[in-house]
Amino acid sequence: MKYYILFGPPGAGKGTQAGAIAKKYNLLHVSTGELLRSEIAAGTELGKQAKDLIAAGNLVPDSVVEGMIESTFNNNRTKAGFLLDGFPRTIGQAKDLDEMLARRGEKVNAVISIMISDETVHARITHRATIEGRADDANPETINNRIATYHKQTEPLIEFYRNAGKYYEVDGESGDINVVRRRMLTVFRGIDKRFVDRQTVIDNDLLDRVQQLAQESPRLRMNYDLRNTEEDQSQRMINVMLPGTMTAIHKHNLSSETVMLLRGKMDTVFYNDNGVEKERIHMGGDTGVLGVNIPKGQWHTFEVEELAIIFMAQDGPWSPLSKENMLK
Ligand code: AMP
Repeated sequence: MKYYILFGPPGAGKGTQAGAIAKKYNLLHVSTGELLRSEIAAGTELGKQAKDLIAAGNLVPDSVVEGMIESTFNNNRTKAGFLLDGFPRTIGQAKDLDEMLARRGEKVNAVISIMISDETVHARITHRATIEGRADDANPETINNRIATYHKQTEPLIEFYRNAGKYYEVDGESGDINVVRRRMLTVFRGIDKRFVDRQTVIDNDLLDRVQQLAQESPRLRMNYDLRNTEEDQSQRMINVMLPGTMTAIHKHNLSSETVMLLRGKMDTVFYNDNGVEKERIHMGGDTGVLGVNIPKGQWHTFEVEELAIIFMAQDGPWSPLSKENMLK
């Protein structure tokens, strides 16, 4: 399971951005504010306990939110992970979260912060009050108290997660919702890559994890970069390809390409300059073919009927295929 934290002052756009990110990465969006508001609406004991504190812009007790978070973790095991929004809000909660996750053999993967100024917090919340009708958005005193609470109790988490090497920040001030979303998705892609870069042993567990990422990807495939730094000017990767993934007929003019099949079955197909198939190499299964060396300048593609996990190596840095190097 992955555990991401969406961080930022009230009104930064955490709730607005959470949906798209949760969908893309198959995460469950968990907003403690939303959970508390539904408890209040349902008139539960917990809701009654929280109501006045929220209306005044104060935090509700740790035990209350941590109980909600833990039961959310316990009751949702079908997603790839969780996108926490509004939790943790204090150093105490962050430490409790670390302990809660350690008991499950898990950890916080990353914290993505949307940063806006106090002036923008005021403007956004005042505007939101006219749309969502939240009690704690309508009163200027409550807004001020929430900003003060954020600076005093929540902001120290930035240092906490920065020291843990898990803190990423995007500008939430300039640009519209879509621009901020693109910034966040770029950060998420980078985190995913960093996550996979750490592994040194290439085992079935790693292949399973990359396969899981491929299953969650709309492109039905996923690369696992085996380089340790961006400066490494080679291409060495594990590539999981699921049925339905499309690879254009393409060629590489600067390097030959070595492909070794690690799991599954696939065909490597060679074409002439007119796009006519000239050779098909069945790999895997009982073919006895483990890999293929594709000469430089050779038009080719991969066809996957079940599943294929390959190791691929080429000279030179990756660059997007240009039009001249793709056949229709
Ligand atoms: P939000 O929707 O995240 O702005 O949360 C609304 C209100 O719910 C906050 O102002 C707090 O009163 C309460 N709340 C939400 N999350 C927490 C938390 N992690 N710890 C304490 N109180 C919280």
